[in-house]
Amino acid sequence: MARIVIIGAGFGGIAAAAALVRAGFDDLVLLEKGDRIGGVWRDNTYPGCGCDIPAPLYSYSFAPNPQWSRRFPPRREILGYLQDFAERWGLLPRVRLNAQVTGAAWDDAAGRWRVSTADGGEVVADVLIPAVGQLGNPVVPVLKGAQRFEGPAVHTARWPEDLTVDGLNVGVIGTGASAIQLVPAIAGRAGRVTVFQRTPPWTLPKPDRRYSHLRERLYTRFPGLSRVPRWGVWGMTWVAGRAVTGHRVAGALLKGMSNAQRRLQVPDPALRARVTPVEPMGCKRVLFTNAWYPALRRPDVGLVTAPIEAVTPNGVLTSDGVEHRCDVLVYATGFDAVDFLVPVRIRGRDGKELSDVWRDGAFAYLGMSVPGFPNLFLMYGPNTNTGNSSVIYFHEAQARHIVQAVRLVAAGGAPLEVRRERSDSYDAEIQRRLATSVWTGCRSWYRTATGRIVTNWPGMAAEYRRRTRRLRPADYGRSLE
Ligand code: NAP
Repeated sequence: MARIVIIGAGFGGIAAAAALVRAGFDDLVLLEKGDRIGGVWRDNTYPGCGCDIPAPLYSYSFAPNPQWSRRFPPRREILGYLQDFAERWGLLPRVRLNAQVTGAAWDDAAGRWRVSTADGGEVVADVLIPAVGQLGNPVVPVLKGAQRFEGPAVHTARWPEDLTVDGLNVGVIGTGASAIQLVPAIAGRAGRVTVFQRTPPWTLPKPDRRYSHLRERLYTRFPGLSRVPRWGVWGMTWVAGRAVTGHRVAGALLKGMSNAQRRLQVPDPALRARVTPVEPMGCKRVLFTNAWYPALRRPDVGLVTAPIEAVTPNGVLTSDGVEHRCDVLVYATGFDAVDFLVPVRIRGRDGKELSDVWRDGAFAYLGMSVPGFPNLFLMYGPNTNTGNSSVIYFHEAQARHIVQAVRLVAAGGAPLEVRRERSDSYDAEIQRRLATSVWTGCRSWYRTATGRIVTNWPGMAAEYRRRTRRLRPADYGRSLE
């Protein structure tokens, strides 16, 4: 029997725990730094926060939820779904809350991981599964004068519980996935919203709809029916996936839809010119929204495209010399996704630091295993992000693979460590494919400072699932057992 430590109790950690418990691995603890489970869905409480992948696919395949209120549910429902799931699967008692992992070191003599927590504690594990996600570390850009701003300045992922913006002048920096949800949600309630745009995003109409009570009753009675919308969404994401991986017709279709949306929703040619994307479609996440452009057209919402020069005590100064007065400043400026696992310090065989091994950019075999780091398997690790499908689909593929790995560990023998040659050839293949991908077309959270794409999977989601379905012991230097 293997003792397993999972770091993090978001969708990834919970998916791994559920699969392992189902496979009979009972000696398992999830160390969670927060005071409740939920990962990004716990942390992101900004107004308007919700899922931008339809819920039938943004949920575990084996735990459909007939109670979704709509196709794109708000964050509260998603968090509730995860909480209910963890409760029903008996996982909550296995979660240790407020347990911040600071580091983990491989003890070669004992063949085990020693995991340290911020309170000075240590947990010993045969298998370590970091599941800290990619979007847990908010980035606030360094702007001249930012410290002198007199009002509240908040990042979208750290929205204070007691912050209301009603009647206030709100400045929002950024026009990514977070901003396009936030701005329509506060427009009309805030006195004025000023949006500071550096790069206009590509958008698509959001095929959202409210789900009926009849549907809920039907899906509760016949849970198998939930496969129908799941396959429907799967089809949608397939087209999107084909578009970003270079299929001309799929690409032209989505581009046409996006352009038509802008033409319809932004009749004013001057405004339309300012919101028309200049980067290749798909090189950043394409955003589903029906409310972004109508919000920008409101008289109480302003779009500023002049670059930010500095933050002043009362607002934001742009390069055209205009000071935009703000009572509240919101940084919708995204996350540091490329420094995987920071600030957790992982030391593998011979005391090798994972951050050193990843100095030129993170990599992992199938996104899960790194040579020199035995019995360690990452959830949502390097090159397993998807801009067009559901991350939860990837989580399930990883969880299934990790169960097979843990079975091998539990069966005894040498610790399970991916062969360097296997890892190197895999990484070369992934990077070769990424080198001609759409994501090379702009700067984004997918890329390191040197331009290496470390977050995204280069192909279709189904390919990832296929390649991870069966663990090959030979990849880990084991003969077929
Ligand atoms: P993001 O996509 O990285 O967007 C950050 C925005 O801030 C960009 O518009 C960026 O402009 C701007 N920005 C950054 N630094 C700036 C500076 N110094 N001056 C001016 N503008 C600056 O971050 P995000 O919107 O938080 O989204 C991150 C990811 O989280 C998404 O891609 C998505 O995967 C996930 N997310 C998902 C949902 C959901 O519904 N499931 C919701 C929110 C977020 P540039 O484009 O010019 O860099």
